Amino acid sequence: MSFESLGLLPELLRAVREKGYESPTSIQSQAIPTILQGRDVLGGSQTGTGKTAAFTLPLLQKLAQASPGTGRRPVRALILTPTRELALQVEESIRIYGKYMRFQSTTIFGGVNINPQIRTLKAGVDIVVATPGRLLDHQSQGTINLSQVEFFILDEADRMLDMGFIRDIRKVLALLPAKRQNLMFSATYNDEIRTLAESLLKNPVSIDVAPRNSGTQLVTHVVHPVDRERKTALLLHLARSLNLRQALVFTRTKHMANNVAEALNNEGITAMAIHGNKSQPKRVQALSDFKSGRIRILVATDIAARGLDIVDLPHVVNFELPYVAEDFVHRTGRTGRNGSEGDAIALVCVDEDHLLRDIERLMKRSLPREVIPGFAPNPNIRAEPLMKTRRSSGPRPSGPRPAGNQGRPQGARVPMGSGRPSSLDRRGAR
Ligand code: AMP
Repeated sequence: MSFESLGLLPELLRAVREKGYESPTSIQSQAIPTILQGRDVLGGSQTGTGKTAAFTLPLLQKLAQASPGTGRRPVRALILTPTRELALQVEESIRIYGKYMRFQSTTIFGGVNINPQIRTLKAGVDIVVATPGRLLDHQSQGTINLSQVEFFILDEADRMLDMGFIRDIRKVLALLPAKRQNLMFSATYNDEIRTLAESLLKNPVSIDVAPRNSGTQLVTHVVHPVDRERKTALLLHLARSLNLRQALVFTRTKHMANNVAEALNNEGITAMAIHGNKSQPKRVQALSDFKSGRIRILVATDIAARGLDIVDLPHVVNFELPYVAEDFVHRTGRTGRNGSEGDAIALVCVDEDHLLRDIERLMKRSLPREVIPGFAPNPNIRAEPLMKTRRSSGPRPSGPRPAGNQGRPQGARVPMGSGRPSSLDRRGAR
């Protein structure tokens, strides 16, 4: 299968060629012709499958082939993403693939000054990539008009629901004209996603693809049992003994991400925490320093890591196991791709044994345990309950607006092995 055979315009084919892609990925070869036909699509795929190009390329083509509505450059396409990083990446893709076209695109997200966004919108943009909160701020200030949107794309819908965006999404939907083409992407499915898909999509074509190179991933899993208070020391030991570079370390909370990054830096191991409280320029800088090797270790929470364009890493370290077993699969799925070997290390204390059991149940395999000499857990230490923040009450990625939805919506992906109190993680809050 070639890009030429998908029926794309020469301007798009040229941009794709320049990007160096030789052939379409699975989701691209399925989604591009379907979207070009004007069908709504429900795409089951995650970051790393090439899904951004799968919707961006046909979107640009459809926009080029239809004449815009009335007014000076109305907003014709709206893409909603859960995080600002993803918004930036999607918009960058639009610029790359649309470089031989004349569309204006922009990102709209919170945490940054609204005035430049207002000026850009006023000047006229065809394609808006937005997080829900700031988009609604613009709507309430009358600085955006969505009445001529022809294409609506909901990216990472599952994560949006996890983050409590359902009400905001419904508010945005109410602002759009009835006649439009809709695309929705989600890495996981549950009843809530299905309900949303039913209300959003008309007679959709479902396209499901596994992550690129899934199944044959060359990931070596290892679990290092360790006491909760000695995890940082063990991480430092591993960072030195394995000479960890280009490692993505996951924590459950941003406080813990900060603590871990600080501990690494104090020992001369360059590290940076990346999470929603960091300013946008800082996050972009952290990502580029990590990619260039200036920073050896990036410490991230799941929400911050989601959507980062880093899918091919030699090491993923679970400093803390995630509450949701599926997140472990997402985390460790970032290593061992494209035929290269990767290792997924988990530092697991007695408090997390039930999370590890959930993960192993989901993965249908047990993960090898290896006690590192000098870090054997003290058998007298008893498990303590992990107290967690509900994800939906976590930081909003789109700015300072109050959360639209304070609770986990019914039917949302619920953490397994839960049933525990819900408040700030005691260690994360330290
Ligand atoms: P995405 O799933 O959209 O985040 O894309 C994941 C990565 O795959 C990005 O770095 C893209 O640049 C890259 N990519 C997308 N499509 C292709 C393709 N057809 N061939 C090679 N790489 C691709």
